[in-house]
Amino acid sequence: MATVAGVAVDPRHWIGGERVASARPAGGGATFTDLSPIDERPIAEIARGGAAEADAAVAAARAAFPAWARTGREERARLLHAIADGVEKRTEELARVETADNGALIRSHRRGVMPRVAHNFRFFADRLLGLGHDDFETRGHRNHVSWDPAGVCALITPWNAPLMLATWKIAPALAAGNTVVLKPAEWTPLTASLLADIAAEAGLPDGVLNVVQGYGAEAGGPLTAHPDVRRISFTGSVPTARAIAAAAAPHLTPMSLELGGKSPLLVFADADLDLAADLAVEQYDNAGQVCLAATRLLVESSVAEAFTERLLARTGALKQGDPRDPGTDVGPQIHRRHLERVDGFVRRAREAGARALTGGGPNDDLGGLYYRPTLFTGAPDGAEILTEEVFGPVLTLQTFDTEEQAVALANGTRYGLAATLATGDPDRAARVSGRLVAGTVWVNCFFVRDLAAPFGGSRLSGMGREGGDWSFDFYCDLKNTVTAP
Ligand code: NAD
Repeated sequence: MATVAGVAVDPRHWIGGERVASARPAGGGATFTDLSPIDERPIAEIARGGAAEADAAVAAARAAFPAWARTGREERARLLHAIADGVEKRTEELARVETADNGALIRSHRRGVMPRVAHNFRFFADRLLGLGHDDFETRGHRNHVSWDPAGVCALITPWNAPLMLATWKIAPALAAGNTVVLKPAEWTPLTASLLADIAAEAGLPDGVLNVVQGYGAEAGGPLTAHPDVRRISFTGSVPTARAIAAAAAPHLTPMSLELGGKSPLLVFADADLDLAADLAVEQYDNAGQVCLAATRLLVESSVAEAFTERLLARTGALKQGDPRDPGTDVGPQIHRRHLERVDGFVRRAREAGARALTGGGPNDDLGGLYYRPTLFTGAPDGAEILTEEVFGPVLTLQTFDTEEQAVALANGTRYGLAATLATGDPDRAARVSGRLVAGTVWVNCFFVRDLAAPFGGSRLSGMGREGGDWSFDFYCDLKNTVTAP
C-alpha cells in the first residue's frame, strides 16, 4: 500500500475483483515509479502491467459480461449512483491524490473536477433509464430497436484529467451493460485505483470494472490488440491513436478517438474585449495542459493592441506555484520530459522569428516543473508553433482584417477539436460558427460542457462522438428486431 497525500492507495492492478501484482517477465521490473509533478519526488511504486495482465483483465471482464449485460437497467443505474455516492464521500481524498499525481489545482479538483466525476455516473445512470426504444411499423410488421451492450471495452486515458476522463468513458460503458478494462496513464495511475475501491464498496460485481496499470505500448498495446475487446475508447495523442488503430485493425474493433487540438479563439472588433481577454487567460488553466485549449488567439487588427494590453494585465496577475495552495492559478507541468517538450516548441518558435510578449521559459523563481505562461506574436506563417499542439501554457497571437481571413486562419490546421468566438454580433456568430471545422464551438464563453452534448473532434482531433445518447450509440450494438403481425 502506498500513502499519498495522507490517503492509502493500492498500487496493484484490479482484476476480477482482486488486487494483483505484476507477474513481470524478464526485461523489466514488476513496478514503475510514480513521481509527483509538484516536486518530482517519487510517491508510489505502481504495478507494471504487460500482456499477461491485459489478458487476465480481458478474461475477467469477459467472464463478468453475460451477468452484467442481463442485469436490469434499474439495478445498473442504482449501482452507478452508489459509485457516485462513494466519489462524493471521498471527494477530498480524491482531490488530494489527483493533485499530488498530476499537479492540477486542488481548488479545481475540489470544486469542479470531482463533482463532475460523480456527475458522470449519475448522468449516464439516469440517461440509461430514459433511453427509448425506437419502435415503428413497416406494412404491419413491428420494428423494435434495442441497445445491446457490445461486450468488453478497453478504455485508455491520458494524464491531464485522469479520473474525469476515465469516468466519462466508464460510466456510459457500464450503464450500457458492458464490462471494462481501464488502462490509466502511467504518469497518473492513482485515482483509478481509488475508483476501483469505491466501485467495489458500492457493490459493483467482480470483473465488471478492471484496472490494468502500466506503460502505453506495454500494457495498453495488448489490450487494444485483443480479439475479445469489442470497443476501444481512447483519449490521448495522435501518434498513440495511430498505434491503437493499427493494433485494432485485424479485429476491426470499433473505436472512439478523442485526440489533440490547436483550437482558435477568434476575437472580433465588435467583441467585449474584457470578456475576450478573460476567455484568453483561461487558456492557461491546468498549466495549458487541456486538449480543448484555444491556444491560437486570432484577433481583428483594429483591436489587437487593446486586447493584448488586457490579456497581458491578466496574465501578469496569475499566481504560479504549488497546486495544493488554493490561491494558486497555474501549477506545474506534468513531468520533466513534458516540460522539455514544451520548452523545445518555445525555443524553436523563437528561432523561427516569433517574439514572446510574456513568459517564454521555465519559471526560474520556482524551479522544478513550473513553466511561465507564454504569449508569442510574430510567428511566421506555417511555423510549428502555429500548427502543432504544444499542450503547455503557450499561446500565439495572430491578427486578421476580414471575417474571411479569420475563418481561413481558424481552419488552417490539421485539427478540429474546438473553437471559441468573441463577438457582439449574433449574426456573425452564427455565420462564422457554421463555417468552422470543430466538434465544439463556444460563443462568448468557454468550457461549458453539458454531458448531454456530443463531444469529439474532426480531422486529426478524433473519430466519433461521445456524450448523451451518442455514448450509448458507441458502447452498444444496436439491433432491429422485425416481428410479423
Ligand atoms: P498519450 O497518447 O501519450 O497517452 C495516452 C494514453 O495512451 C496513456 O494511457 C498511454 O499509456 C497510452 N498509450 C501510449 N501508447 C500506447 C499504445 N501503443 N497502445 C495503447 N495505449 C498506449 O497522450 P498523453 O500525453 O497522455 O495525453 C496528452 C494528449 O491527449 C494530448 O494530445 C491531448 O490533446 C490529448 N487529450 C485529448 C482529449 C480529448 O478529449 N480530445 C482530452 C485530454 C487529452
